Formats: sequence, structure tokens, C-alpha cells
Amino acid sequence: MGQPSSLEISRASELKPIEDVAGEMGLGSHLLEQYGRGVAKVDLAAIEDLADRPKAKYVVVSAVTPTPLGEGKTTTTIGLGQGLNRTGRRAVIAIRQPSLGPTLGIKGGAAGGGHSQVVPMERLNLHLTGDMHAVTAAHNLLAAMVDDHLFRGNALGLEPADVSWRRVLDVDDRVLRNIVVGLGSRTDGTPRQTGFDITAASEVMATLALSTSLRDLRERLGRIVVGYTRRPEQRPVTAEELHAAGTMTVLLRDALKPNLLQTLENTPALVHCGPFGNIATGNSSVVADLIGIHAGDYLVTEAGFGADMGAERFFNLKCRVSGLVPDAAVLVTTVRALKVHSGRHKVVAGRPLPTELMAENPDDVLAGANNLRKQIGNIRLHGVTPVVAINAFPTDHPSEHDAIRRVAEEAGVRCALSTHFAEGGRGATELAEAVAEAADEPGGFRFLYSLDAGLRKKIETIATQVYGADGVDYAPAAAGALDLYERRGWGGLPICVAKTHLSLSSDPSLRGAPTGWRLPVREVRASVGAGFIYPICGDMRTMPGLGSDPAAAHIDIDDHGDTVGLF
Ligand code: ADP
Ligand code: MG
Repeated sequence: MGQPSSLEISRASELKPIEDVAGEMGLGSHLLEQYGRGVAKVDLAAIEDLADRPKAKYVVVSAVTPTPLGEGKTTTTIGLGQGLNRTGRRAVIAIRQPSLGPTLGIKGGAAGGGHSQVVPMERLNLHLTGDMHAVTAAHNLLAAMVDDHLFRGNALGLEPADVSWRRVLDVDDRVLRNIVVGLGSRTDGTPRQTGFDITAASEVMATLALSTSLRDLRERLGRIVVGYTRRPEQRPVTAEELHAAGTMTVLLRDALKPNLLQTLENTPALVHCGPFGNIATGNSSVVADLIGIHAGDYLVTEAGFGADMGAERFFNLKCRVSGLVPDAAVLVTTVRALKVHSGRHKVVAGRPLPTELMAENPDDVLAGANNLRKQIGNIRLHGVTPVVAINAFPTDHPSEHDAIRRVAEEAGVRCALSTHFAEGGRGATELAEAVAEAADEPGGFRFLYSLDAGLRKKIETIATQVYGADGVDYAPAAAGALDLYERRGWGGLPICVAKTHLSLSSDPSLRGAPTGWRLPVREVRASVGAGFIYPICGDMRTMPGLGSDPAAAHIDIDDHGDTVGLF
């Protein structure tokens, strides 16, 4: 018998009744809607109900720039929650719901792993309570209403070539990136070129994640811009004008309620929304955190990819909307990621990491440590205390952990080795103590930029201060869009940069902390409903393709009807 798989560990776990888990958060059963064993939705009235209770310490989990496999943020978020509980503190965790794209594609699921998982993991990784499908339906309803408007005489004067609203699907499907709709006879619609993005990249997903209430969601959906009228006027056309926003809200009213599950050690886990961290906001929902912040002593939440990506958006987009102030930030660091950042190893997305990466080599770890130093700096830029969490893998060597400890010590940052994957919360008690200490330090949280700084200035501040670029170069179309958006009155929106998550720079092949480069902005879009301006840098895709050996080729049911092969 080998090691049990994450799925086997998950299935062997003892779930508490979900109303008991909710009870520990102070949530009465009148606030729960049951969705089968171990899963409930939480009514947003919980925000009001819990408001008088003390505020939890707010901890965000981020990471060094990851390899394509992920470095264990979700696993560490869960392990830390369990570790805080083990050390006598009440913790709640908040994570995103994984997209079926990565789950069935290259990366695998996102319910954690080993002895740090949210369960039931099959449900979390697959449909859960159907929120992803509701987002897909709301998004595509608006797309259908746009095309129907064109078909029925186009009273608003939309320029078909300037319709920016595409369609979405929660499956990796490269052939849908560029399509032509409306082929056939006259009654089959107006032909035009468009395409599909993955649901996790939908503005509706980002809007759901950033809304503070059902009313706020309704207003944001109404502000979504689907395209522009014919030139020279180029007036933005909104979902409100197409009379779509009301129905979209109704389709999303259940999806706006966070899902409550639990970890293997019965820590409450709010699982809600799944925007990608490279092309979207990369953070779970504001409403989940508004509930979780009054539901324990600590609220631990995960921000997607490296600290330059999800954590920067957590600070400057999510915290700006929620008004919540972080008390500490965990930087998940792995031996393998720092070895890759040495630039001495070739890593190809979709292929296993090279075996020579597993050999004992603290020098490679030190050679890649500039990435860790820069990401520590990125947390400190926001006035938040970082804690380095070494996520221990079975292939690591103690000398390599020592190398990471040395780097953290030189930077004056707390550092803890965490074996939560192998041992659950018991393996995360050192991390829990370090995080508790960091969160007790007096806080000095600040936004990186003020909203009135101007769009170019805000983009340049992120590029130079967080990514380490020398400056920003705008393609003509991008510069034109920025001017147009300023004229429209959208200059006060914050920024969500779409860029590769595999490098601090916009070139996924550059490791460590690249210097002497400029950020190329190819295109800029306006997500007016979600509430941000969205510069796209380098060759970013908003619809992934399947890898050469996708997880989907290995999943099945066994003779008992149980799922197998889901990690
Ligand atoms: P992230 O959230 O940073 O993308 P995850 O926590 O989802 O990372 O972990 C990525 C993958 O690595 C998962 O398949 C997970 O089970 C595995 N993993 C994470 N930490 C460890 C560890 N310490 N040992 C072995 N596998 C791990
Ligand atoms: Mg994750």
C-alpha cells in the first residue's frame, strides 16, 4: 500500500453536522440553507447578525511566484486554520471555489491536499452548490440579449465590431477562444466574430466576488459595459440599457450566499467565488469575509498566485471594497519554487517538475531567494507584517529549509516550517504561533495607490513598485483606451493587471526578481460593473486549453459508484 490519496483521506474523514460547524461561528440554523451532507449556504443576514461580536484577526495567505503546479497556498490556508485551532484559537478560513478548468486540466483541484483539506472535496472541486453554473448562465444571458438586440434592429446603435461582452464556459476549451456567431440564415442572427472565456475570468464572477450586498450586486451588474455605439460617438452601452441586469441578479441571488464546509479537523471553511488570480481578482468573496470576520478569533483567507498578483489585488481591490484591514500576511514558500527561481532548471507547464530538482541543493534555493525577498517587500509595501511559511514536501532536505530560514532571518521576517500536508493542524502549530505574533504587532496597513492618481500613474506604481519594472510601455490601442476611459469618468477606478503568474515580470520565462525590463500593456479593458480597469500585459489568455495529459483523462467511477482519480 502506498500513501493514501487526498481523495481517500477526504473520504475517510469524520464530518461534523454542518449546523454544529456553523454554531461554532455564532450562526444560528435560521441562517443556513442545507445543500446535502456537509454543505450549507449562509444567508447574508449573517453579516448583520454577527456584527456585534468581536472582530477576528485578518490573515491573508499569499506565496512566492509559483511553479505551474502551485506551491500550496490553499493547503497552507487550511493547515493554518487547523493549526490555530490546535493552539486554542478559533479560526475560520475563506477560500475560492475551484474552476473546473484547472481541476480537470493541468493543475488539479483546489480543496487543499493530504491532511489539510476542505471536505467533502469531490463536491468542492466539482459543482458544489452550482454557483459557477449560475455565473455562466447570468453571463451568457447578457450575451444572448446583446446578440438579440443586434438582430432586432439595434436601436441603441451598438457597433458589432466593438461588442466586448463575450461568452463563458467553465471548461478549458481552446477551440472556443475565437468563434463566429450568427451563421446560417437571416433569422439565425447577425454574424460577428466573438469568443469564449473561462467562467473564472467573467466580469460577472469578479462582480459577485466584490459585491457587498444583493442591492450592490444589482447596481454593479447594471453598470457592466457590453460594448460601444458606432464611431465617432462611441458611447458605452450597459447591461441596464439592455434590461438584463435584473434577471442576472435573480439568477445570482443564491450564488451570492457563501458556501459553508469544514476542514478535515472540522474548522469552518467558507468557500465562495472563483476568480482567477492572473486575469481576474483572484480572491474569494467580500461577503464571505464580512461574515467570517466576526465568526472567530482569526479569519484566514487565500489570495491567488504570488504576492505580486492575488495579494496586491487583495490589498488594493478587495480590502478597499470591504473596508477590512489585514493584520498579517503569510508567504508560502517551497524549496522547489526557489530552486526554479535560481534559473538553473527548466520547467514546462503541463509536464512534471524535472527530477534533478529533488536532489539536495541549498545553493539553488539561495540562488532563487531574490523572488522571496521581493515578495516580502511587496507585502511590506502595504504596511502588513509578513510571515514566511515553508510548506514542507517529502522531497525536501533540512539544509534547504535552513537556507529559507536564513533568508527570512536576514530580512527580519518570522519564519515557520509547516508539515500540515503530512500531519494536519499538528504540523502547523509553529506557523500558527508565528502568525498570531505577527498579527498582534501594531498595524500600518495602507493602499499602494490612491484612486485619484490617474490610470497611467496607478498602473506604473504597480509595475515599478510591485513587479520591479523600469516603466510601462502602452501599445497604441491601450493608450487610446486609457484616454477614452478617463474621458468617460472611469479614471477613479482601481487597477487589476492581467499578467502571467509565473514570473514577477510579464515574461513567464524570467525567474527570480527580474530587473531591467518594461511592462508591455497590449490592451486595456474596463470592468465597470466589477469596478476596475484591466490592463492586459504580454500574451495572456482568458480561455485556457487542456494540457497534454489532463486530469480529466484519469477520473472515473469504480464498481461502488465512487469517484476515483480525483487526486
Ligand atoms: P495553491 O493554492 O498555491 O495553488 P495548493 O494548496 O492547491 O496550491 O497545492 C498545489 C498542489 O500541491 C496540490 O495538488 C496539493 O495537494 C499539492 N501539495 C501542496 N502542498 C504539498 C506538500 N507539502 N506536500 C505534497 N503535496 C503538496
Ligand atoms: Mg489555491
